[in-house]
Amino acid sequence: MASSATQRQPKKRPYIEPTIRLIVGIFITMLAVLIYRYSEHRLVWLGAMLFIGLNLFQSAISKWCLMEKLLKHIGFRGELDEIRELGEEARKTAAEHMNYMDTLNLLNEAVIELSEDGVLLSASEGWGKLLGDSGSQSSSIGQPLSRFLNPDDVHQVVEMLTAISSKDSGVHSIRFRLADSSKGENWVGGKFMSGHPQPGEEKPRIKGVLRDITEAYLQEEQIRHMALHDALTNLPNRLLLEDHMQLALSHAERNGIHAGLLFIDVDNFKQVNDVYGHKAGDHLLLRISNIMKEHVRSSDTLARWGGDEFVILLPDLKKAEELEQVARKLFHELNRQLYVENATGISTVSIGGALYPDDANSIESLLVQADRALYHAKAQGRNNFQIFSTLSEQNAGFNDFDMTKLLSKAVKEKRIQVHYQLIVDAQSQQPTGFEALARWHDTHHGWVSPGIFIPIAENHGFIHQLSQQVLEQALTDFGRLLAIQPDLCLSVNLSNRQLAIEEFPLQLQAMIDAHEIRPESIKLEVTESLMLAGANTAREVLDVLWNAGFKISIDDFGTGYSSLSYLHQFSAHELKIDMSFVKRFKSENGRIMLEAITGLGQALGLGIVAEGVESAECMQVLRQQGVDRLQGYYFSKPLPLDECLLQLQAYTEPSVSNTV
Ligand code: C2E
Ligand code: MG
Ligand code: MG
Repeated sequence: MASSATQRQPKKRPYIEPTIRLIVGIFITMLAVLIYRYSEHRLVWLGAMLFIGLNLFQSAISKWCLMEKLLKHIGFRGELDEIRELGEEARKTAAEHMNYMDTLNLLNEAVIELSEDGVLLSASEGWGKLLGDSGSQSSSIGQPLSRFLNPDDVHQVVEMLTAISSKDSGVHSIRFRLADSSKGENWVGGKFMSGHPQPGEEKPRIKGVLRDITEAYLQEEQIRHMALHDALTNLPNRLLLEDHMQLALSHAERNGIHAGLLFIDVDNFKQVNDVYGHKAGDHLLLRISNIMKEHVRSSDTLARWGGDEFVILLPDLKKAEELEQVARKLFHELNRQLYVENATGISTVSIGGALYPDDANSIESLLVQADRALYHAKAQGRNNFQIFSTLSEQNAGFNDFDMTKLLSKAVKEKRIQVHYQLIVDAQSQQPTGFEALARWHDTHHGWVSPGIFIPIAENHGFIHQLSQQVLEQALTDFGRLLAIQPDLCLSVNLSNRQLAIEEFPLQLQAMIDAHEIRPESIKLEVTESLMLAGANTAREVLDVLWNAGFKISIDDFGTGYSSLSYLHQFSAHELKIDMSFVKRFKSENGRIMLEAITGLGQALGLGIVAEGVESAECMQVLRQQGVDRLQGYYFSKPLPLDECLLQLQAYTEPSVSNTV
């Protein structure tokens, strides 16, 4: 199409430039002078030559000349035609330029031209669209571009213009914010490069194409945010925390100050999830994160480490003692608020802290030491805080990984021991039984609390193996205790995992048969979480055990899982009031709670046992409330078998006092 259009254009007539006419005119005139000198018919030649030469000469400057007319006649273009055509061409070019701008105006992109010092020389309509309310296309021409930019981004535009002006021929990509508009953040992005100078201008224009990238930019930001933050709490995740730790440690080193790290772990979180469901677990995590947010400074980083663990990085500690102060304040604040909100008192936290550079000199070691301190806090029975520097050497050397490895080895080598804690009748204070409690002694780390190693065994799949060892040992030992007092009961703690095994009742029956012990002498302690977890197998297993004649005791009763509607469906003989209630026996509220639990148990026909009795005063209160049996340090700590045998003998021998 394009080529046929070109063919159809009329052929342009030739045109002789005025300069050429002048030169040819002069040449012919000079020829005439020579002919005049050397030719015979010189006058004729002279006349003809002069006529042609001078006419040609004149035709270069005048349209009235004969030669001009003659040239036109024989098919050349005249001077006037040429001028007219040039004018026409100029008009056409201008129109084409107008069309070009019209085309640019159709684009959503803004096409702009800048001088080297950043003044807007031209702009398509897209520029006006980008500016929105903060300016119009036409009024911005002649203004510095910086006037339309967010002040924070001006420097990068200036840097780019300087680079292009200093003969950088490349294409520069850039994105920046335009000055505030009603749209909120207004991001534009595009490319700039050096153009050619315009006619009449010395320096080249800088050309640029820009478009609105606000939506894409915000999406990108969102993705970046998601990669560095935890979805539930919106707190920084490990990646971002480690980034902040890097900065904090360098800052502390440069300024000779300390940086602190706190690990915060929610106690019994797994049970919250198991019993109340993941939604409740999420809610608790959110609540904890919100309480902590209120108590950290803006320069601190509060991050979610994963699961139920949070980390606080304190980059600006002038004195080492500040870490402990922050840990103490946070610990009390969390426990106070969670206690107020949750009447069951189930949600507590443990905190471990370490200090840079005193306890560790790198990110990794700071995390490890804070984790060790947390571990120690857990080993102290949870619900407390520990700072690494104050731990004994022995405790500081322990961590989760070591513990799992060592525990698994101890179980394989059958090194788990059993201690027994006396349980007495509340009125007569005579022994009614013993509770078997697992004990693990590690060569390097000493005695480790079952509150720590039982959950590890549960989580790493060797709880059944461990429990079988405890049971086997306890049944063997119980035979010797029964020989002294035949009506004793042996209480053993069962993990929910054991109750998930259908064959468990048969295995247990086989074991007690082997030791010639009756099921009525065995009390199986299970936690309330079992009945609320809705685990059918566990309930069926419990029913089988009940029918076989075993006694069932609900351990740690009241620690947040109690649900009356479940309680009456649950086959049990006894409630063991949790120590946390017993400890509050002195306060009015504490006493009301104890009374309520005791009343409830009695109404359901259950026996009531209180654990954690540490004083005669406590014993008195519990007796008055009608508790049947008591267990606690006031009577005896858990002891190895030999000491229990002596203890029991002391009770049964008439010459020895009945009180401990
Ligand atoms: P639990 O069954 O509630 O055991 C009572 C815990 O309270 C024992 O802690 C005992 O030493 C402690 N205690 C008793 N009287 C007092 C007192 O007056 N004051 C204080 N402060 N504490 C007292 P222990 O031995 O550390 O056991 C902790 C928990 O570990 C047990 O709580 C039980 O849930 C679990 N556990 C222990 N042995 C086994 C086991 O063989 N199998 C399973 N599944 N769990 C076990
Ligand atoms: Mg127990
Ligand atoms: Mg208990």
